[in-house]
Amino acid sequence: MHASDQLDVYTLGIVGMAVGVVISLSFTLSGIVLRGMPALRLWAASFWLLSLAGLAQGYDENGGFLSVIIGSLLIALGNGAMLMGIAVHLGHRLALRWPLALITFYLAIQFVFYLWPPSQGVEATVFGVKSVLWDLWMIWLLLRLSPPELRVSCAFTALILSIDILFYLARAGASVYPGMDSHVVLATALTTSNYLFGILCTFLLGTGFSLMLAQRITHDLRCAADTDGLTGLLNRAAMFTEAGRVVAECHARGESVAVLMFDLDNFKAINDQWGHAAGDRVLRHFVEVIRAAGIKGGALFSRYGGEEFLLLLPATKADEALMVAESMRSRVAAEPAPFDCHVIAFTTSVGVATSPSPELTTMVEAADAALYRAKHAGRNRVALA
Ligand code: GH3
Ligand code: MG
Ligand code: MG
Repeated sequence: MHASDQLDVYTLGIVGMAVGVVISLSFTLSGIVLRGMPALRLWAASFWLLSLAGLAQGYDENGGFLSVIIGSLLIALGNGAMLMGIAVHLGHRLALRWPLALITFYLAIQFVFYLWPPSQGVEATVFGVKSVLWDLWMIWLLLRLSPPELRVSCAFTALILSIDILFYLARAGASVYPGMDSHVVLATALTTSNYLFGILCTFLLGTGFSLMLAQRITHDLRCAADTDGLTGLLNRAAMFTEAGRVVAECHARGESVAVLMFDLDNFKAINDQWGHAAGDRVLRHFVEVIRAAGIKGGALFSRYGGEEFLLLLPATKADEALMVAESMRSRVAAEPAPFDCHVIAFTTSVGVATSPSPELTTMVEAADAALYRAKHAGRNRVALA
């Protein structure tokens, strides 16, 4: 008994359809639950379009208008939506005209095929070339544009698309098999493998896109957990984690580390006089000024608390740290924050501590004590621990 006797094309068509609908549905439902993920919506649309195309082509097997024109239109739109989903996921602004050009070109060929039906080999070759083009385009986007934090899931999806390409190449090879047109068993086996492979690929692609989404969400959540929402700086907890590593590295190299603790002066009065929104603006402005003053590579700048900021400078000795602190303090005093049509002048006190010791908390305490002295000495000044 031959495999194709058991796995008839009709059954495979139904199974393929069911798989397509299940995956489309799961992407649609995920899109409803995980709002604000445009890539997810595009992939859901893509799976629906491809499933509908399968339905149209399965219903109209003899190459009528429904199969050749409507089916091809749905497939082409499905391919386009999948590509756009990848571009959106990777934050790439893809000009719509290129996918549209490929869709139009493919449809034009299908229209010619509708009027003058070609041999099965030609039809299969054109379909294969079209599929390989979309696959290559998506692989290129996935490998070229994926940031390191999304690389694994993008590489996995690219691998599945590469397997798809290999399948089309193998199929092209098989279709030039001598006497293929008259070889019924081989032709049936080819159609069967087409269906089976289509089902497998849809499954794997669905998994690939789900992994891409999972990796993106995990990364975004981790970033959000480590970042202060107002200033975009590291928050206190993330700073301690990162700083521990920096301090240990410096200690291993025998380098000294400097901690600069900033506290804005009389900040409560700014809030009282100008309002909380103005206070927020001053905090963001302070961060811009410090950044513009130039922070050395490898340094960590974090929001330690309300209006307290901590700058950790690796490989920095006391005299250099004092110079940096003094320059930043004077820049803050010289550059008031714009707010509405006003400018809000403000100052900062800085406590500086340097130590070759690997104990970060000791250094932060020392910087805090120095800051306290700077406040008592009249504010808007730098004090060394
Ligand atoms: P000092 O010179 O001694 O540091 O005086 P200060 O007024 O700056 O110190 P204090 O600790 O009394 O006040 C800090 C204020 O910072 C109190 C709090 O309402 C405000 N604050 C903390 N976080 C934020 C924030 O995110 N936005 C705004 N607008 N204000 C904040
Ligand atoms: Mg304070
Ligand atoms: Mg303060």
